[in-house]
Amino acid sequence: MSNNVYDLTRKTDDVVIVGAGLAGLFCALKLAPRPVTLISSAPLGEGASTAWAQGGIAAAVAEGDSAEAHAADTIAVGGGIVDEDIALLLSREAGRRIDDLLRYGVPFDRDLEGRLAVGREAAHSARRIVHVRGDMAGKAIIAALSNAVRRTPSIRVIEGFVAEALLTEDGAVMGLQLRNARDASARPVVIASRAVVLATGGIGHLYATTTNPREASGLGLAIAARAGAVIADAEFVQFHPTAIMMGRDPSPLATEALRGEGATLINDFGERFMQKGHPLAELAPRDIVARAVFAEIAAGRGAFLDAREALGARFAEKFPTVHASCLAAGLDPAKRPIPVAPAAHYHMGGIAVDARGRSSLKGLWAGGEVSSTGAHGANRLASNSLLEAVVFAARIAEDIAGQQIEAPVSVSPKLVIARNGATPAFAAKKLRAMMNSHVGVIRDGDGLAEAVRCFAATEREAGSIALRNMATTALLVASSAWSRRESRGAHYRIDYSLEEPLLAHRTMTTLAAAREIAETLKIREPRNAQPMIA
Ligand SMILES: Cc1cc2nc3c(=O)[nH]c(=O)nc-3n(C[C@H](O)[C@H](O)[C@H](O)COP(=O)(O)OP(=O)(O)OC[C@H]3O[C@@H](n4cnc5c(N)ncnc54)[C@H](O)[C@@H]3O)c2cc1C
Repeated sequence: MSNNVYDLTRKTDDVVIVGAGLAGLFCALKLAPRPVTLISSAPLGEGASTAWAQGGIAAAVAEGDSAEAHAADTIAVGGGIVDEDIALLLSREAGRRIDDLLRYGVPFDRDLEGRLAVGREAAHSARRIVHVRGDMAGKAIIAALSNAVRRTPSIRVIEGFVAEALLTEDGAVMGLQLRNARDASARPVVIASRAVVLATGGIGHLYATTTNPREASGLGLAIAARAGAVIADAEFVQFHPTAIMMGRDPSPLATEALRGEGATLINDFGERFMQKGHPLAELAPRDIVARAVFAEIAAGRGAFLDAREALGARFAEKFPTVHASCLAAGLDPAKRPIPVAPAAHYHMGGIAVDARGRSSLKGLWAGGEVSSTGAHGANRLASNSLLEAVVFAARIAEDIAGQQIEAPVSVSPKLVIARNGATPAFAAKKLRAMMNSHVGVIRDGDGLAEAVRCFAATEREAGSIALRNMATTALLVASSAWSRRESRGAHYRIDYSLEEPLLAHRTMTTLAAAREIAETLKIREPRNAQPMIA
């Protein structure tokens, strides 16, 4: 351990937070002056979905709006399985958390009278999205909170280290195993702690087509699951219908607001395919548009967002971020339609937590996208994810603050997993391609079963801890999707295309249960159980 620039053996910290997006940074700040170690695989300010958020945070702060109306909208889009108490708690605490963010220096836009300016987004019954300089909310939040964290002496920041395992004994957290993010062969380092907060973000990058940063590969969810934590609603992945397909990974977003301004979806033949798909055409709910775009591409007809008539020369001024992304790829969206495809965008599932952010493991809390609170059900309402991250980060800090956590103990060497290999690039690519094709926008039982067998074999046999953790999360998503024999919210199965009223409940599972499903499926079709490392 002495070859590391950080003194990771410092014994004074009792709380370790993994992840420096909104959830992790905010939780660390709320815990101050209590000593906290904050770990991020990327340098502070990078590698977090938070920084890429363009819309803003939903909060019923405008005159005439109410927390109850916000909760009702959240429940309405969630496919019948939103935890209504959690939805209400979220909307009720929104105002206080926005005040906190203002105090930490986030410059939310204001109207001429100095009140918070609020925008409207799909499926919100009122204007309630607080934003920064139009589409810069994420960048501004990360910049302000990172600065505040750097100025807080009680927070020790460790950058460039990946958390690769949770160390537990008798169902209680004992510490965390980390490794240098750029050197798979480096010796692992261990931090002893009885209080770990996972705030590692989502799983989008497990898919070949995604809007999420590389760091959103589901590693936090995997390490919790491998330690035995209960995982909720893993099958529910939200796909953004219009990611820009011009050879970039991750794909830039063509925001929904473009369709709000009249941009249409067309195929290779110039036909508007959404007109036959839904009465609201391009403004239909996000999951319906995503499926229609997917189907058009699968049928070989292609999908494009056409803003030539709706925006034309006004494109650059109205949507500078999207305009810049297109120009960088050599396409002028004022003159040519933008090629688009659905992309993995947000994970409603995650580590199951209660209203205090506590997981099923003693000493493990989870906040932000890696967690599943029940607030989103089977489909997330726009701009509710940043809200959930900030509300639960505060709740976790409050819960920890009220506890006497025993001094960290040194971790028994037998808990440490030393063996590791570099992640074979082709294996990760194959896994991501299979998530797209078998666990994507449109699913079916056979495809899911094949994915389950494949991910289980990789999870069992991979020599790279990172690949194994990716496969662990992929297995949980695929096996939960295989088990849910219906279509609900963002989970759509062609072999069970209707909602089944008896299944109107959340999914709670464990890695052991997912492995059991894989075993059953292996017996049925043993030939397909090939790991991705072979
Ligand atoms: C393009 C885009 C636009 C979006 N727009 C909006 C919006 O307008 N409004 C909204 O509410 N939501 C939006 N979302 C969703 C929202 O941004 C995320 O859900 C939210 O930011 C998640 O915050 P978080 O703190 O949980 O995770 P993140 O912000 O993703 O942060 C995760 C952190 O964990 C670190 N990390 C990950 N794994 C490890 C590991 N194993 N070890 C160490 N560190 C690790 C990462 O480096 C990062 O620092 C958008 C998402 C995307 C991708």
